[in-house]
Amino acid sequence: MHELTVAENIINIVATEAGKAGSDMVSEVCLEIGLLAGIEYEALDFALEVLAPGTVMDSAAITIEKPGAAAKCNNCGCEFSFETFMGSCPDCGSADLAIVRGNELRVKSITI
Ligand SMILES: [Zn+2]
Repeated sequence: MHELTVAENIINIVATEAGKAGSDMVSEVCLEIGLLAGIEYEALDFALEVLAPGTVMDSAAITIEKPGAAAKCNNCGCEFSFETFMGSCPDCGSADLAIVRGNELRVKSITI
């Protein structure tokens, strides 16, 4: 399961950051995972629940921010948000689009 690997990475990042701050326990972790990041939120929650005990995140409250998806048209420059990718600009119909939001996958903040 892909989410298990992601959860492991998250815990490693948090452990490294906590270590830099001289702590082996964190109280809160905020993750930013966009709707396009390819992560099943429930599966990730579950993976963290399974892996966190005994780690730096043992008693951490976990918040997941879920930025919606947005794209920018390279032809006319308009930016639009979407839920299901439609493949063309709603303004000019161009298919030359760049994703500008929604593929985030990172640890946003850690509270020790
Ligand atoms: Zn356009």
